[in-house]
Amino acid sequence: MFRPWMRGTRDCASNLGITRMPKVKSPKPCRNCKASVIFGPYTDIAKCMRCGETFPTGYEDEIRRVVEADCSGSMEYPKAAVARAIGYCSMIYGMATHNEGFTGGKLEAQIGKMGGSNVFNSGGTGEVELINDGAKGRGMVKRGLHDSRTGYLITLVTADRAAKAAGKDFTHIYIVFRGSRSEEGSLNPMAAGFTSDGHNVDYAANFTGRQDKPWWSDRVKIRRGFLELYQSMSDDISNDLLELLKLHPKARVIVTGHSLGAGLAVVCAHHLQYHRALRIDGGGPFCFPFCTPRAGDLAFALDFKARLGEAKLTMPGEGGGVREYNRAVNFVMSNDPVSTEAMYGFKRDRSDDLTGRGTQAANRGFVGKIAYGLRKKVNEEIIFYQTPNLYKLGYFQPLAIHQYSRMQEIFLGTALYTT
Ligand SMILES: [Zn+2]
Repeated sequence: MFRPWMRGTRDCASNLGITRMPKVKSPKPCRNCKASVIFGPYTDIAKCMRCGETFPTGYEDEIRRVVEADCSGSMEYPKAAVARAIGYCSMIYGMATHNEGFTGGKLEAQIGKMGGSNVFNSGGTGEVELINDGAKGRGMVKRGLHDSRTGYLITLVTADRAAKAAGKDFTHIYIVFRGSRSEEGSLNPMAAGFTSDGHNVDYAANFTGRQDKPWWSDRVKIRRGFLELYQSMSDDISNDLLELLKLHPKARVIVTGHSLGAGLAVVCAHHLQYHRALRIDGGGPFCFPFCTPRAGDLAFALDFKARLGEAKLTMPGEGGGVREYNRAVNFVMSNDPVSTEAMYGFKRDRSDDLTGRGTQAANRGFVGKIAYGLRKKVNEEIIFYQTPNLYKLGYFQPLAIHQYSRMQEIFLGTALYTT
């Protein structure tokens, strides 16, 4: 049984700062039939047993404080793998918008440069192979929305000769999702994110709220727009992964993305945990999203925590001695309105067009899109939570908020990819 204020995540317990019991809020009268509805303190949405009416219990904020507790003071993450992850997350934008090439070697060179002998295998890094360039694109099939530009990558990284010689053999498979694009003209000449007739697919996904059960679990709910977009890629991804794991049965699998790509990474990692866990050495994938919007309901956040957030696994290829890392770390900026603070933050549903071909939010700047979302009516009964383990990176200047270039500077030492 989950009692949020009595125990935190295993790794964040010291950071919770929550010692008092919240005021008891149960029972409450059903707002429809007035029957008395009893609920526990770990419930965010109560349901009337007589008429079926649902309503928020008032415990949401306390639950959120625990589920979204900041783990940054107490959690280690695998530095080389996370550096690669943000590198790929950034590289994929230029590939999609400007036809830039895949430059995994450049990324490995930077990783070799940045860490020094204790962190990155005495400079020995990886050999890189691009397995899937996402050339089939992605879309929202039911609505006839298809974006033909690169929406995800799968890469295979194996230890190079120097790393092997240093006794640091490793094999990693990265599954990388692109974030949303809505710029036009010189910023996005290949029209990534758009259909051939000019509808923005990414923002159709971002502004499609509601929560749906995914096809792999009846217990959890996921943001509809992310689920729809992920569905267009999921078969190819899990088939490619299966083929790779036949050749590399000991490979670590790392799922990552920035922004919308981070939301998709969270969804994909949960799917693979259910669908491919028996094939993945160590019991399932790692998930390292950056600047993620909230992707699912409370049950999803808790299921993710139990299956990925609390699971620990070694990451071959890291410097220093062998150690275990939590399989999910969720990297956010403390003042990013997409992930954490402010009124927006995808905390509750503010849906736009639920079934149509897009949204007017697309052709606006970052602040304009947030403002557009804030104009939409809040649905108090559809509540989203971040997946654990939230790793807050601090507060950033307005121009650096939500930027993957800033994330590269933090994890990769420099903004290697800026397109
Ligand atoms: Zn009722």
